[in-house]
Amino acid sequence: MIDFRSDTVTRPTAAMAQAMAAAPLGDDVFGDDPSINALQTYAAEKFGFAGALFAPSGTMTNLIALMSHCQRGDEAIVGQQWHTYKWEGGGMAVLGSIQPQPLAHQADGTIALTDILGAIKPDDPHFAKTRLIVMENTTGGQVLPLSYMQDVAKLAKEKQLSAHIDGARIMNAAVALTGKDTPAADEIWAQARALVQGYDSVSVCLSKGLGAPVGSLLLGSEDFLKRAKRVRKMLGGGMRQAGMLAAAGHYALTHHVERLSEDHQNAQRLAQGLHDIAVELGLLPQFSVTLPQTNIVFCDLEANLAQYFVAELAKNNVLCISSSYQSNEQQRAKLRLVTHLDISTSDIMKTLAISRTLLQDWRP
Ligand SMILES: *Cc1c(COP(=O)(O)O)cnc(C)c1O
Repeated sequence: MIDFRSDTVTRPTAAMAQAMAAAPLGDDVFGDDPSINALQTYAAEKFGFAGALFAPSGTMTNLIALMSHCQRGDEAIVGQQWHTYKWEGGGMAVLGSIQPQPLAHQADGTIALTDILGAIKPDDPHFAKTRLIVMENTTGGQVLPLSYMQDVAKLAKEKQLSAHIDGARIMNAAVALTGKDTPAADEIWAQARALVQGYDSVSVCLSKGLGAPVGSLLLGSEDFLKRAKRVRKMLGGGMRQAGMLAAAGHYALTHHVERLSEDHQNAQRLAQGLHDIAVELGLLPQFSVTLPQTNIVFCDLEANLAQYFVAELAKNNVLCISSSYQSNEQQRAKLRLVTHLDISTSDIMKTLAISRTLLQDWRP
């Protein structure tokens, strides 16, 4: 099986499984789990924060952050397509009584600073209290530039707002921002620290490109984490002997950061290869490919072609996600293919060979 649906599908490597089996354990609700404590200390130091909190998922670390920054009736500024707004079941409103203020994106994935400024409400009883700005990096595989991230952090400070990064794939952003094809781990961490500087909290997924089976981290100040710990307990995220999971995350942060550039290169190979096939077969308007900045490839297809292609790929044990949409009277679909630890360069070559055959056989 070549599974491009998400970078969440990875299984622990043998070495990671060994680290999990060997992890010393305790009750983390009492703060007694040495493996969780070690992971939190390590991550805090690497990202340049006072501390970190381990939780079961990125959805939960985001919600903990939102509920630790905002009170009932406060407002959080978010992107229209962002996970915190669109893909987390409306958790901030349902569970946090927080009002989201979604804003439209620019083509590069950023939200214009003037739009953010314009959405900050004056202190007036008609309005919810704007309390928090949320960023997401990477967002849909796109990297928000360092200078932009710094501008938003500065704006938040000036307006006395808190700022949170949904950094589910922040290490992918850091890799891309080194500007190198195969950056060393130290160079990647330096970029990661620069990206999160000036922000009050960051959520990081260990279970995506980093390859751990479960877990996310929330980074922040001591004061923030004290509140966060209470919210985590409230949401049912206080785990007991979860050191085995933390050991996987710790292994991921120490062994799988540098290799992320392989996923980016594989995504490039895949996108370039699919584009070349589309050109060669004269399929271009029906089948267009966006060159990726990190590990997520998007293709935009005419709907019938997408349906055929995705179904036939699946028969050949190649999986990807397709979502259809309406565009200028035409039904189209976006395919998403994500590269990760369990996809090799030879899997990319196999996928391209299968794709060529399938697309050659396509008859509208
Ligand atoms: C995956 C993801 C999350 C949530 O992580 P889960 O561990 O799946 O809950 C949050 N934000 C972004 C941008 C993500 O891609």
